[in-house]
Amino acid sequence: MRYDLVVRSRRAVLADGTRPAAIAVSGPAIAAVEDYGAPLPASRDVDLGDLALLPGLVDSHVHVNEPGRTEWEGFATATRAAAAGGVTTICDMPLNSLPPTTSVAALEEKRAAAAGQCWVDVAFWGGAVPGNADALRPLHEAGVVGFKCFLLDSGVPEFPPLDAAGLRAALATLAATDAVLIAHAEDAAEIKAVSGRDFWSFVASRPPVAERRAIEKVIAAAAGTGGRAHIVHLSAAECVAMIAAAKAADIQLTAETCPHYLYFAAEQVPDGATEFKSCPPIRDAVNREALWRGLEAGVIDCVVSDHSPCPPEMKAPGSGDFGAAWGGIASLQLGLSAVWTVARGRGRTLDDMARWMAAAPAALAGLAAKGRLAVGQDADMVAFDPDESFVVDPARLYHRHPVTPYAGRELTGRVRQTWLRGMPLLGDDGLMEGKIEAPVGQLLKRG
Ligand SMILES: [Zn+2]
Repeated sequence: MRYDLVVRSRRAVLADGTRPAAIAVSGPAIAAVEDYGAPLPASRDVDLGDLALLPGLVDSHVHVNEPGRTEWEGFATATRAAAAGGVTTICDMPLNSLPPTTSVAALEEKRAAAAGQCWVDVAFWGGAVPGNADALRPLHEAGVVGFKCFLLDSGVPEFPPLDAAGLRAALATLAATDAVLIAHAEDAAEIKAVSGRDFWSFVASRPPVAERRAIEKVIAAAAGTGGRAHIVHLSAAECVAMIAAAKAADIQLTAETCPHYLYFAAEQVPDGATEFKSCPPIRDAVNREALWRGLEAGVIDCVVSDHSPCPPEMKAPGSGDFGAAWGGIASLQLGLSAVWTVARGRGRTLDDMARWMAAAPAALAGLAAKGRLAVGQDADMVAFDPDESFVVDPARLYHRHPVTPYAGRELTGRVRQTWLRGMPLLGDDGLMEGKIEAPVGQLLKRG
């Protein structure tokens, strides 16, 4: 048999470990995994040598904002950034776009807006908000990968938070379908208003106890209903013990953290540098170390971006006021390098990276064909040089409004090539835009 593509690497990060291998692709899928030097007739044969071959990353936490706030971020720009960063699947968050994805009609609007624009595969989260309980099952049947809720003000009025009773009711409804409910877990009662240029004041205004109180509510609701819950963007490392205890008690709970919490520490943030603002905040270096240990211990399951750009005048107002700036750090294109830069120094491996940034988020979102290099999986692959360093130049970022705290940072580990279902998206001279007739990303449904 003649394969469409064979990719060989001495460091192939396979589902069962890293070793020299040849990945043979037929159509969109991995057809065989053979020895590195195996004779395999193919239309194209790519030998990466010592470059690592990773599964395409799955970023389950991306705010695209289209339709409605396309001037913040859109499918065309976000998915180009993803392709350049080795991310071959994104899961779009249900808020910040207009309408928010809280009904099947809104999901259809979102799909229509995305159609024909996507350079990587895109799946969608639904939203659980007060009053849309009857929409959850239809959204699930329409193929959303799960549901997002807030436990405090989301920052946009059209996506209000659930109270404790609403959280419990949503989890009870979803328990029957095995759909996961992912929660922005901060408790408004523990958060203080803040303004000004001092980052430490901003950090103090959203203390770890705000995350802890909200996660307690999520754990109680998951325990009481048997529903599946997931904590998004965990920042407060003191919550790791509580999450570990819930998992040990067989409560269905998972958690993610983000590259910015693992890479930066509050000590590094200058006054007025609102490009570092996220909610919850980047905390101190001691917290960062504890967060890493929670990840390394397997309590934190995934590392995903929480990519959330907005226009520069909202993100970096001239005042440098942390109260006024939009919270969100856009790192779709940089997440793999940012996390690897720290991880390699801690003795972590590319297998860890593939688990945290591909396999675990794919499992969270129920995307069975994604996140692993193995026979039958989609041929989503990334050639990665784990030793090459580069300095982040915002002008080379593809997402809209590349205001970024990573500007000027030297990161180690560079994405060299990306394939989506066997099709090359990124080559040595950049994105293959000129060589591909139309964007090839598909709109995915759970399964
Ligand atoms: Zn988010």
